Amino acid sequence: MNIDVPRIFELYNDAVMYDDPDTPSVCFRKEGHQIENCTECGLCLQRCGMSIAIPERLRDTLRMFGGNEV
Ligand code: SF4
Repeated sequence: MNIDVPRIFELYNDAVMYDDPDTPSVCFRKEGHQIENCTECGLCLQRCGMSIAIPERLRDTLRMFGGNEV
């Protein structure tokens, strides 16, 4: 679904680590990430070697940053 999970989690981690969602939120919107396209198919769960609940964390990120309306 063309979802750049590593980049999205990098932005999410920056927001949490620096306790500042504003700057990564701007990057998130300008980069045009479309988390809404996630179908929760689970393919990334099968391939992730770190047992991260990727679809759930993507939803967390979407809640933090909102959609792509700029
Ligand atoms: S569950 Fe994972 S592989 Fe499936 S659409 Fe969402 S991000 Fe992509």
